[in-house]
Amino acid sequence: MLPRWHIVFGFLFTAVVWLASPDLNIIYVLTLFFSTFLIDVDHYVIFVKRNKNYSLNKAFNYFLKLKKKGDRKKDSIFIFHTVEFHILVALLSFFHIIFLFVFIGMVFHSLLDIFTMIKEKSLQNREFFLISWIARNRN
Ligand SMILES: [Zn+2]
Repeated sequence: MLPRWHIVFGFLFTAVVWLASPDLNIIYVLTLFFSTFLIDVDHYVIFVKRNKNYSLNKAFNYFLKLKKKGDRKKDSIFIFHTVEFHILVALLSFFHIIFLFVFIGMVFHSLLDIFTMIKEKSLQNREFFLISWIARNRN
């Protein structure tokens, strides 16, 4: 899903949560909102590392091109999108409640990504497990 749609849907989702719990601390509300789209930062980091370029626009076009080409599974791991990272953040929520809002935002983001990939029939192009990616790329 395109970042702009993550922001739009993240805003709507956060608004619904806030309407349902108006007493929720604004810090948690903002954390939830930012978590619905900032996990895509892993894409940007990969772009910068590979291209030695900081342009957000070029990064965006780079991943659009890669997406059209198809096979990304082997060379790209989007660390914040992995099941392991989700589990780590879920575990951190036992130590501080703010991670619960990060976790909820990340899960919301990931579900949107998955629905989009199912719609585009590209689910097989994403590696969801860090451990599988490491096993495949260790040589
Ligand atoms: Zn994403």
